[in-house]
Amino acid sequence: MPRSARTPGRDNPLPANAVGHRPVVAIVGRPNVGKSTLFNRLVGQHLAIVEDVPGVTRDRHYADALVLGRECVIVDTGGFDPHSDDPMAEGIAEHVRLALDEADVIVCVLDATSGVMPADREAVALLRPTAKPVIYVGNKADSPKREQAAMSLYELGIDALLPVSAQHGIGFGDLEDRIAEALPPPADDATSPEHEGLPRLAIVGRPNAGKSSLVNQLLGEARQLVDDRPGTTVDSIDTLIEADGERYVLIDTAGIRRKRAVKKELGVEGLSVMKAIRAIERSDAVVLMIDADDGVAEQDARLAGLAVDRGRALVVALNKSDLLDAERRKRAIARTREVLAFAPWAPIVVISARTGRATKKLLSTVAAALVEHQRRVPTAELNRFFDEVLEHHPPPTQKGRAIRLFYVTQAATRPPTFVAMTNEPKLVHFSYQRYVINAIRKRFGFEGVPVRVFYRQRRRRE
Ligand code: GDP
Ligand code: GDP
Repeated sequence: MPRSARTPGRDNPLPANAVGHRPVVAIVGRPNVGKSTLFNRLVGQHLAIVEDVPGVTRDRHYADALVLGRECVIVDTGGFDPHSDDPMAEGIAEHVRLALDEADVIVCVLDATSGVMPADREAVALLRPTAKPVIYVGNKADSPKREQAAMSLYELGIDALLPVSAQHGIGFGDLEDRIAEALPPPADDATSPEHEGLPRLAIVGRPNAGKSSLVNQLLGEARQLVDDRPGTTVDSIDTLIEADGERYVLIDTAGIRRKRAVKKELGVEGLSVMKAIRAIERSDAVVLMIDADDGVAEQDARLAGLAVDRGRALVVALNKSDLLDAERRKRAIARTREVLAFAPWAPIVVISARTGRATKKLLSTVAAALVEHQRRVPTAELNRFFDEVLEHHPPPTQKGRAIRLFYVTQAATRPPTFVAMTNEPKLVHFSYQRYVINAIRKRFGFEGVPVRVFYRQRRRRE
């Protein structure tokens, strides 16, 4: 039985390696212009296949998509706002500002049938000064007559308007052309002077979890390095820090420290997801900060889910320990485990960003997870594991078909990704898949990182 380390063939491509960030395309516009319809149509045709991680709370307002062969993340900013039925202009400014901060390309949706509304003017006024590409779309142009009506939107003073019908799919070829043109050139993370192989840390969490306190604490403790290499294009938004002889890039420190007064009723929690999407895209490891005093919530699971989806290393910082007695601390940990049940491998470090308690430990835990993230199991060890564990515990028969596993290889790191060759990839039961992942963890560890196993058809000549 051939068991050499082999990579899957051309006809067996693996999902793109998680590391290497996709540009973000944000859809903005006032309520009811058709943002979510447009989002669904854009991603519906090109939805990249994302392996479903059981138990992960998923937002359906963002999705990976391939636009003319370019990978990107499309975000419906309106989808995050629970009050999106609010006909008032309120809220649009916050969405647009967020898109301006976090997106690479902005699609501003207008309604061809309704004429110009105050919220449209507000959006355009905010978007006009930006250097980022903005694509204005006149939606609901279902017929030539309506397409004509869309022209009235030029009164907003925009240069170009693309009439489309999200409902009928009219104009989407042009829209995709525009998006693809506007996407930044693919980032070559390996050679980008921004990191040069330095691990990138994203600190995410709900408002008031203590993110900016942690950043300040880390910057205070660790020597802050000024990047003065010639030709670097380092945005000031990221900060290089050094701790215990290790260097890290803290992502979006400016964004974390520059706090904006946002009103609670504008779906602030949802908006923090949008910020997190971008930060997590650019990261290797994610620190999820949770306010232990306030308690863990659905939103925390959502943020953790983003990190898991993206295959990032994940460490949970349970913050504000100075406010907790031993009993409450224990309960907070138990509750966090419960809510993040889909990521039992994520270490929890109880910290106080205010006093600095355990922030060093947090960084060393992240460092350990980063090592695991890149770890490659030697083929000989993997073969032994296969012989000892999987060969003796084969998948149960499904639908009367005997299912055989032939061998396992590690196809990728960051995150560790394994390929199991089998005669019936579609019939390997979910519970057996879970068994395999647990067995891999039991044998090899991988604390702090998601592990992926894909099942592939073994070709006959193998
Ligand atoms: P959002 O609030 O901006 O996300 O808007 P939705 O996508 O929920 O759409 C608001 C309404 O406009 C819904 O009733 C949609 O069916 C409708 N709609 C969306 N796109 C089109 C379109 O291209 N043509 C027409 N006639 N209606 C549309
Ligand atoms: P962010 O919104 O996630 O950036 O949170 P901040 O860092 O601004 O913190 C929100 C509030 O929690 C501020 O009043 C902080 O002083 C407070 N805070 C942050 N970390 C701690 C902590 O470890 N202990 C206590 N008691 N308060 C904290």
